Amino acid sequence: MKQRVAVIGAGPGGLACAMLLAGRGVDVTVYEKQAVVGGRTSRVQVGDYQFDRGPTFLNMPHILENLFTSIGLNLHDYLELKALDPMYTLYFNGGKDQFTMTTDRDRMKQAIEDQFPGNGEGYDRFMAEQALKLGKLMPILQTKHDRLTDYLSPRVLTALPRLSLGRSLYDVLSDYFTSEELKYSFTFQAKYLGMSAWECPGGFSILSYMEHAYGVHHPIGGMNRIPEAMKQAIEDLGGKVHLNAGVDQLILDGKEATGVILESGEHVLYDDVVVGADFAHAMNHLVPEGVLKKWSRPKIDRKKFSCSTFMLYLGVDKRFDAPHHTIYFAEDYEKNVREMTQTLELSEDFSFYVQNPSIIDTTLAPEGKSSLYVLVPVPNNYSDLDWAVEGPKLRRKVLDALEERSPYKGVEAAIEVEEMFTPDDWEAMGVHQGATFNLGHQLTQMMYFRPHNRFEELDHVYLVGGGTHPGSGLPTIFESARITADLLTGEVGVTK
Ligand SMILES: Cc1cc2nc3c(=O)[nH]c(=O)nc-3n(C[C@H](O)[C@H](O)[C@H](O)COP(=O)(O)OP(=O)(O)OC[C@H]3O[C@@H](n4cnc5c(N)ncnc54)[C@H](O)[C@@H]3O)c2cc1C
Repeated sequence: MKQRVAVIGAGPGGLACAMLLAGRGVDVTVYEKQAVVGGRTSRVQVGDYQFDRGPTFLNMPHILENLFTSIGLNLHDYLELKALDPMYTLYFNGGKDQFTMTTDRDRMKQAIEDQFPGNGEGYDRFMAEQALKLGKLMPILQTKHDRLTDYLSPRVLTALPRLSLGRSLYDVLSDYFTSEELKYSFTFQAKYLGMSAWECPGGFSILSYMEHAYGVHHPIGGMNRIPEAMKQAIEDLGGKVHLNAGVDQLILDGKEATGVILESGEHVLYDDVVVGADFAHAMNHLVPEGVLKKWSRPKIDRKKFSCSTFMLYLGVDKRFDAPHHTIYFAEDYEKNVREMTQTLELSEDFSFYVQNPSIIDTTLAPEGKSSLYVLVPVPNNYSDLDWAVEGPKLRRKVLDALEERSPYKGVEAAIEVEEMFTPDDWEAMGVHQGATFNLGHQLTQMMYFRPHNRFEELDHVYLVGGGTHPGSGLPTIFESARITADLLTGEVGVTK
């Protein structure tokens, strides 16, 4: 008889794992609490406008392409991907200075030389050395890490000299560039992990390299097309995806999971359960208190979590002559990052990001209009911020900042529809403390020290998504799906 596997959560992690399992002949059923697939990568519909809830770009699309081809499917039959060139524009000094990033290496080097004389050589060196670093790190990101002795494996030992151990991301970039703005331009990607560049391990210099080497990509219809494509693929392969079907509890026989209890009260038995829901939220809600030791509630609360994000989705009745992705740095960026990640307070002088996808994608807004997405990185809910009070105040400041620091002059008058989404809303969605990028990516919370793909505390329970190894961000989440599916199918003996 076919092995039966339940997957909890139709986020990118859960869906990617379910798709691989379905493609390998496993009888797989996905249970999703919400009415839509995608989780943090879902579609937001406000009036006639569509937005992405969270992710706005795909990096290293070949990882997703490979998931599809590994089970005989072609990603491009399911969605249309566009590479962006230029990738994004960065604004400094209250919007007075700007710097545009391209994947064209000659143009990029020239732009660096023009704006930051003497730094072009650093860019060449950065690209060459990070290519070697990524080559060494990739095998670690693609392999399970569930034993301490894994640190002695050849893949880790050969990577060690390139891991920049003991150095922060900011320190590493200081080896290449003399300009602070240039260092920020190649380290702000620490925010993708919800971390500070001054705290983020230096090994993560591969993040900006990955953008410069592989580009940033936009699926027509938005990033939510990726989970929708995976749902379609699962169903094409005979798997099932149930929406509005939250899981209330794991069925446990001691430490062994034998199925799930749905919020409807239905008990369904399975051979294995994959948890794709936010890890900390799932352990606190789906497992009775007292069962877990290493990942008990008090121990989870002692871990470090990523920052959160404050979001505005604005449907505006005009087109703006502004790039697809723009980032606006606080004047005192280091202070802003410290307030967001360490002192957990709202910065007066804040950074923000705006996506303007309607310049290349006409499916998101009515003709001549635009769907604008604004993100402000803010502290997670381990802060004492009252978002019922702070949300409207921050919305006001963001609209003022758009007017003063960005090309979006006159945006407020053009708003037809809008939605505000705060850390409280992320938390209500099932994101632990609204920490949108999961458990932090400090070395003490990575690899062996991150929750294992085959969950170490419960039998027949597996993890996938940003809370397990290798970590947050779609390319790594897709790798987690592959590692977990490999563990499952290896264990249940289904031929690949
Ligand atoms: C604002 C923001 C911007 C981001 N930008 C990018 C980007 O541009 N590029 C990138 O690569 N990454 C980005 N990320 C990071 C990451 O790719 C996404 O957060 C991704 O969606 C995480 O996937 P996941 O599968 O781990 O979890 P989720 O997307 O959170 O999916 C978990 C799913 O589980 C469901 N669930 C929870 N509990 C239950 C239950 N009890 N029963 C049933 N279902 C349940 C949830 O409803 C959800 O659908 C961004 C994240 C955020 C928040």
